[in-house]
Amino acid sequence: APEKANIVYQKPVDFTKIDINLLPTVMIVGRPNVGKSALFNRLIRRREALVYNTPDDHVTRDIREGIAKLGDLRFRVLDSAGLETEASSESILSRTAVMTANVLARTQFAIFLIDVRTGLHPLDQEVGKWLRKQAPGINPIVAMNKSESLHSNTNTFAEAAIEAQILGFGEPIAISAETGLGMTALYEALRPRLEDYIVKVLDGNCSQDENFNQNSDSCKVDESKLPLQLAIVGRPNVGKSTLLNTLLQEDRVLVGPEAGLTRDSVRAQFQYQGRTVYLIAKAKRSMTHAEVVIARQAVEEGRGLVIIVNKMDLLKGKRNSTLYKKVKEAVPQEIQMVIPQVTGIPVVFISAIEGRGRAAVMSQVIDTYEKWCLRLSTARLNRWLRKVMSRHSWKDQGAQTKIKYFTQVKARPPTFVAFMSGKTQLSDTYIRFLTKSLKEDFDLGGIPIRIMQRYVP
Ligand code: GDP
Ligand code: GDP
Repeated sequence: APEKANIVYQKPVDFTKIDINLLPTVMIVGRPNVGKSALFNRLIRRREALVYNTPDDHVTRDIREGIAKLGDLRFRVLDSAGLETEASSESILSRTAVMTANVLARTQFAIFLIDVRTGLHPLDQEVGKWLRKQAPGINPIVAMNKSESLHSNTNTFAEAAIEAQILGFGEPIAISAETGLGMTALYEALRPRLEDYIVKVLDGNCSQDENFNQNSDSCKVDESKLPLQLAIVGRPNVGKSTLLNTLLQEDRVLVGPEAGLTRDSVRAQFQYQGRTVYLIAKAKRSMTHAEVVIARQAVEEGRGLVIIVNKMDLLKGKRNSTLYKKVKEAVPQEIQMVIPQVTGIPVVFISAIEGRGRAAVMSQVIDTYEKWCLRLSTARLNRWLRKVMSRHSWKDQGAQTKIKYFTQVKARPPTFVAFMSGKTQLSDTYIRFLTKSLKEDFDLGGIPIRIMQRYVP
């Protein structure tokens, strides 16, 4: 259940118990061929990677995201293929590089890979400069990869270790993405950083969507500037490609089967009212799933959801006009029944083939996106909390547990922590009541919000 409560205590942090939406993000950076993908694959093992859409003029470069498992550590890991574009070419303004920079803005940590065999390469310095400029808050862990290929007492190895310090990010660790050498060192370098981060974020001292600097509590990213990423999902033949073309109109940038992974998805990018929208129409993954499963999965992944009912033109005309009305009334109710976790999911009725519905779809998408990015101040939330508690208070009779205060720890999707005075957890029913009240009072229909609990003595 996506909105189930979690309890997170002080250090040591049990990463296995943390909602994956709260896990910190670590981006693997480095010039081409240093072994970023190899390390990414090692960290996520056989888990499924989520692929970000980073459309480029000729090649589609992906930023892959997965949940990394390193001992008892869990974190989100990003493999930044897009970085190569900027580091290896002059096109500073290439869309992919911009996209990578945008993703980087929401990343808290980085592993900076270099190749121990070649030592410090001019492109490593470029990557270092890029990182410092794009994310000054990130102090990356420098890892000399391919270390299994050199004995640690050779000159080459020692030189690489010294040279790596020229980057200005401290002493490197030696690893091998291929053999697993040095994973303990990587664990030891990451653990204190990730743990500090989790404790700070759950204390409400720092927002999650920013570069995390251990020495500062400042929050700075302007989320409205981040590109909107929109996935069109649904069964074959519902009209995803047609809708995609309707949305693109003449702004079409790139449509076509993805290079490599044939026909898995169609990607495109367009501007809508001054906003960059990255679009992806997914085909393959949806094949085996019913619509409801697709929608539930989106909710579980914490995405904002808009339901589009297409081909309404088929119901128009004299004979079908009552049917048309009935569908409009019945569909939202049915959707609510099959996805009870999220109330008030917006439904838009369109006819993609007639080329209409662009404004209707986009205004609903932007509305949902803005709600998904919403941040509520702690003061406002606590005024709200007093009000809902007076409507329906929650008390654990025996333990005298109550909610001391309530705060939002992150957006995208909005995630809240209820600070409890005792160790008893709120009941699922009460969590549902709070969730429903938040949605009603702050107009968060269609947004999968999360509430966690934390005990404060
Ligand atoms: P990326 O371009 O940074 O993503 O690099 P890849 O992960 O594609 O790796 C580039 C090449 O280096 C591939 O041939 C890998 O097999 C190789 N490689 C990656 N990690 C290691 C390692 O730890 N040791 C050795 N010897 N080769 C590696
Ligand atoms: P996809 O498999 O989901 O990408 O679906 P397509 O966009 O390829 O559309 C599947 C079929 O449905 C095509 O024959 C389209 O012409 C048709 N189609 C798409 N949208 C509409 C619509 O709004 N009305 C009608 N009547 N047909 C549509």
